[in-house]
Parts: sequence; C-alpha cells; structure tokens
Amino acid sequence: MSTQIAPASIDHARRIEELGKIILAYSEVTERLQMAHEQLNHTVRKLQIELSEKNLQLERKNRLAALGEMAAGMAHEIRNPLGGIQLYASMLDKDMADRPASQQLVRKISGGVKRLEGLVSQTLQFTREIAANAVEMDIREILDQSVDFASASLQAREVACEITGPGAMTVLADPILIGQAILNLILNASEAISGGGTIKIELRKPPAESNAKQFHLVIHDSGPGIPPHVLDRIFNPFFTTKDHGTGLGLAIVHRIVEAHDGSIVVTNPPGGGARFEIRI
Ligand code: ADP
Repeated sequence: MSTQIAPASIDHARRIEELGKIILAYSEVTERLQMAHEQLNHTVRKLQIELSEKNLQLERKNRLAALGEMAAGMAHEIRNPLGGIQLYASMLDKDMADRPASQQLVRKISGGVKRLEGLVSQTLQFTREIAANAVEMDIREILDQSVDFASASLQAREVACEITGPGAMTVLADPILIGQAILNLILNASEAISGGGTIKIELRKPPAESNAKQFHLVIHDSGPGIPPHVLDRIFNPFFTTKDHGTGLGLAIVHRIVEAHDGSIVVTNPPGGGARFEIRI
C-alpha cells in the first residue's frame, strides 16, 4: 500500500521552494544594486576631482588674465617715459665727452634703461593674444629638438634627459608654440637640478576617456620640487624665485597650453622632484 502525502505538506514544500527562489532573486537584486551604487560612487568621486581641477584652472585663468591686463597697461605707461630718458641720456653722453667720469655715470643710466626696455617688450609680447596655428606635426620630433636646444644648459649642469614613448606621433598642434613650451619646461627643470640629475619625459597617446585628444606629456625632474607655499603662484606672470629670472616662462607655457584648449598640472610627487603634466 503506497503512502499518501497530505496535500497540506505538498503545499508547504512548494511555498518553501518559492520563498527560497524569492530570497535568491532578492539577494541577486541587492548585489546588483550594491554594484551599481559602488559604480555610481566611483563616478561621482571622479567627477568631483575633475570639477575641482577645472575650478582651479578657471581660477588661475581669470587671475592670469587680470594680471596680464595690468602688466600690459603698466608696460605701455613705462615705455613712453623710458624713450624720453634714453634720449636725454644720449644727449648728456655727448655733452660729457670731455668729462669721462660723468660720462661713465650717464652710460650706467643708459644701460639700466636698455634693460628696462627689454623687460617692457618681453612683457608686451607676453600679454599679446597667443593663437595656435595648428598643423599636423610630429610631437616626438619637436621633443627631440627641444632637448637638443637645451643641450648646453643640460651639459653644464650634468643633467641627463630620458624620453620614453613612441618614436613618432602625429598630432594637430602649433609646432613653434609647443616647442617653446617644452623648451621652457626643460630649461626650468635643468636649472632646478644642481649638481647632476635626471629629467624624465614621457609621451603617450591620451586614453579614450580623457578630455585630451592629441597627447599627454609628463616632464618630471629630480630637482628639489616646488616649495608647497608657492605651488599655486608659479604660473603667475613675474613670479620668480631666481635672482635673474623674469617669471614669464611658466606664464607663457600656460598661455600656450590654453591656446590649444589643453591643461597643465604641476605636482610634487612622493618620490621627489617637480612633475609637469600637459594634456592637449
Ligand atoms: P623664471 O624661470 O624666470 O623664474 P618661470 O615662470 O619659468 O620664471 O618659473 C617661475 C618659478 O617657478 C621659478 O622661479 C621657480 O621658483 C619655479 N619653478 C619652475 N620650474 C621649476 C622646477 N622644475 N623645479 C622647481 N621650481 C620650479
């Protein structure tokens, strides 16, 4: 005689099975939700970092524009009286032909005026609009050329320059301006290194998700790095810590990168030195 299973216990077993399925589905959904939440958190964090970087860049851009305008105004104001001083000094120079000691003093005035005129014309050049004339160019070739141009400074300071990245890379940019920016960064790096060191230059294609479309360039030196309290001022025109610096080098680099719709970031990485990263 076969044993009969009571309909009530069949029902009970089915319910338990269904409950099991519901719990499983529930935990799958929870797991998926958890993953989506983590992904969302990651994206928000990335966007927050990007936003604060963009805010810093915008702040710097506004500050540089205001400083540039002020410098241009001052340079124009200084240029006219300088012309007059130069003219009177040369007249005095002729009058002093029979008094060599006084003539020496007048010539010192002329020398000072000439130096000031040099600074004024550099300032006016800096404040003029920089427009990139973008053409197809090999960025690696420009990089090699810049290292070549800097070779006297590199050799004098016993600085080795190592370039990594593709042997050729065609990009759309202004070769003269990009060359000038790279050269400025290499010369600064070489001046920062005293008693031998290395400049590592890394060239690469930007990853697909990057805002940059042309190239990424990192110039990292083995110098002392940039003192943290001046880090946010080094792109300001006329900011210099050097006895004979003009403080226009990095301001010009910044304007060149900007003219290419790119960005430049400077850091003191944990391993030491200063690291400039250009994304164009
Ligand atoms: P200048 O070279 O005439 O001083 P820059 O605008 O090129 O003007 O540089 C501004 C300042 O930034 C420098 O005086 C220096 O203090 C700092 N700086 C630039 N590059 C580096 C570097 N690679 N390492 C350390 N400090 C640097």
